Amino acid sequence: MDKIEHIGIAVKDLEASNKLYEKLLGKPHYKIEEVLSEGVKTSFFEVGPNKIELLEATNVDSPIAKFIEKRGEGVHHIAFAVDNIEAEMDRLEKEGFILLNKTPKQGADNKLVAFVHPKTAGGVLVELCQENNNKQ
Ligand code: ZN
Repeated sequence: MDKIEHIGIAVKDLEASNKLYEKLLGKPHYKIEEVLSEGVKTSFFEVGPNKIELLEATNVDSPIAKFIEKRGEGVHHIAFAVDNIEAEMDRLEKEGFILLNKTPKQGADNKLVAFVHPKTAGGVLVELCQENNNKQ
């Protein structure tokens, strides 16, 4: 795995949190994107080579809605950049990690993503993400 690509933070109110993080980081978010398949609206901030991704649920079945219900707002996942997501998924499965999706899926920010179950990763939801070269 390469660098930490971004840290995902679950929030209740994206607009309010955008203002909070704008103050905290001293710069505005640079994009907002809705990922229909995940039931989330996201906003992104750049911090050096890394990003902060704020996630707000867009429906009650969204994983973010469930997370906030159980644990409240806060750090939701850590995403690592990978060159070859399928090879990395294979490697992790062989190491005994449980993947939440069997094939890479389209995530926010033009990335192919896959998630590692937090139960097998020390309580941390880990995201793998690879730059998606096929423009969609
Ligand atoms: Zn993410």
